[in-house]
Amino acid sequence: MPNKTITVAHGDGIGPEIMAATLAILKAANAPIDIEEIEIGKEVYLKGISAGIAPESWESLRRNKIFLKAPITTPQGGGFKSLNVTTRKTLGLYANVRPCRSYYPYVQTHHPLTDMVIIRENEEDLYAGIEHQQTEDVVQCLKLISRKGCEKIVRYAYEYARKYGRKKVTCMTKDNIMKQADGLFHRVFDEVGKEYPEIKQEHMIIDIGSAMIADRPHIFDVIVTLNLYGDIISDIAAQITGSVGLGGSSNVGENYAMFEAIHGSAPDIAGKDIANPSGLINAAVLMLVHIGAPETAAKIQNAWLKTIEDGFHTADIYDKNNSKALVGTTAFADAVIERL
Ligand code: NAD
Repeated sequence: MPNKTITVAHGDGIGPEIMAATLAILKAANAPIDIEEIEIGKEVYLKGISAGIAPESWESLRRNKIFLKAPITTPQGGGFKSLNVTTRKTLGLYANVRPCRSYYPYVQTHHPLTDMVIIRENEEDLYAGIEHQQTEDVVQCLKLISRKGCEKIVRYAYEYARKYGRKKVTCMTKDNIMKQADGLFHRVFDEVGKEYPEIKQEHMIIDIGSAMIADRPHIFDVIVTLNLYGDIISDIAAQITGSVGLGGSSNVGENYAMFEAIHGSAPDIAGKDIANPSGLINAAVLMLVHIGAPETAAKIQNAWLKTIEDGFHTADIYDKNNSKALVGTTAFADAVIERL
């Protein structure tokens, strides 16, 4: 298979450190990829490009169609627009897939049986970014839900369950309150579900659903939900497996796909070589499967698992009774490379 050129962005905060670790592993594994680097995030905003991404970088993304992206920093409550949201919308990445599983007994967790995949609608909902200042003291934020958007994501979730032999899809909404918007999502879930009789289907109100994820995560298999709820519950699900630093995710559309860690740029630990690169490594594994290189994906995933099993742990998952060595970002990557 000829090498596939992918676009890579190093991001902000811990982004450059975890990306360097991930690229070193991809290179050592002889992954069938060539890399085209673009700059996004803080540095680009500082150059006065308010979109946070230069026009030539969009060209790279359009040409290569596959994007491996490190986290970027987005200021809260003001400032420039979230580049993550812009990228998902511009490239039509409607499905955000976030597998969350426990690696017990190697990584300590209160929930050893967790193995769920959260499939989050990625373009609509309150993230459409439509906000209006009504008066000086009143702001309106539009929650946008379309039948087409619901159908795409719900079908994606059922197809995912079918493809990966998963038994149940749980839909989470708040349709007891948002009867029309969330009601439409729930209705489409039931309608499309008729085409998948072999898959168990259930609905939960998002508040009790979140509580169940925190307390009894093993009862879930695939979860499909709206954008905002999916964002929140996938952090909960990743955290209860031991660390938010473990999870990778894919953002998939008709023509493009973007792969990234679940977590953010973690400015509190940036530049110290202590971040866990596992989320981005696992995202790179998902990317390799997506581009048709499952052997390299399996090779990296097995080496990563062996590193975790051998007790080489970054600070977020280190446990003195269970871990063998406390390692930094670079040393963790070296340990994975040794096990390829
Ligand atoms: P965060 O995920 O960056 O950090 C939350 C906590 O988890 C911090 O204590 C951090 O140190 C820890 N953590 C996160 N990743 C880790 C890792 N790999 N290893 C060890 N510890 C890790 O969330 P936040 O602090 O709310 O957000 C920081 C910035 O990241 C914000 O600007 C936010 O907008 C941005 N963000 C970006 C993305 C993205 O680019 N996809 C996603 C979420 C948040």
